[in-house]
Amino acid sequence: MEGESPTSTAMCLRCGYELRGLAPTGVCPECGLSIAESLEKRRLGLSSPGYLASLRLGALVAMVALAIYIAAGFVRWHLIGFLFTPGTQKYFVFLDIAGAALLVFGVWKLTIDDPGLHIKDQARTNKRAMKCAAAGLLLLAIFELLVALRAPLPTIAIGVSPAALSLSAVIMIMAGALWNLACWLTLATGLVNYTRWLAVRVPDHRLLGMAKSMSWLLPVAIAAAFVASLIFGTATRVVPLGLMAWLLGSARERIRSESGG
Ligand SMILES: [Zn+2]
Repeated sequence: MEGESPTSTAMCLRCGYELRGLAPTGVCPECGLSIAESLEKRRLGLSSPGYLASLRLGALVAMVALAIYIAAGFVRWHLIGFLFTPGTQKYFVFLDIAGAALLVFGVWKLTIDDPGLHIKDQARTNKRAMKCAAAGLLLLAIFELLVALRAPLPTIAIGVSPAALSLSAVIMIMAGALWNLACWLTLATGLVNYTRWLAVRVPDHRLLGMAKSMSWLLPVAIAAAFVASLIFGTATRVVPLGLMAWLLGSARERIRSESGG
């Protein structure tokens, strides 16, 4: 790319508009941000090393958190319940708490503000969505553990007729499941848009393209896993969470190369 005009690979920092071929002295035709400002300030490679280190650490911790969530989905899977002493499997919900706690920490590190950017260009909405979703998942996991410690955690599973559950238990399960669904959808949407924002700042068309594909693939995978989990149990989370970890890993790889290793 060397030797081309400075705008040949650039995108607008605020809105992602392609600045290819535009004069560096002009403004973005979409949102009016000065192109010079996009070119000077947005480059992730020019951000402070401390900021980039926080992003890398946050992405890594969030990936570990997702891996713990996936592992928790398998050990809590009712289809392998015969491997465990009856009644003990529900206590593995503590793994969800560990995963959620790490997720909160990872998201917090991943979404700190870049000290070199204007407050309007910090992608704050997406960051807030990710933080709220991670906190919501932690609350849910803590609630589930409290229920598991008090009484057998009711599950809708093969072999358990819904009639055997009390109405309040069914309402609680559905409320928990919907809360869970809302948290993951919010987290995925926030993460996809945040990754797009990062990709624009590299700029990296491949990462941007991946984020665009994930913007429909992740919600579909989350919704499908949610429906499948009602029949097949907690292990179905491996698909959407695996996709999310893949996106995080790709973003982290790009941040790492921008910060010079
Ligand atoms: Zn713009």
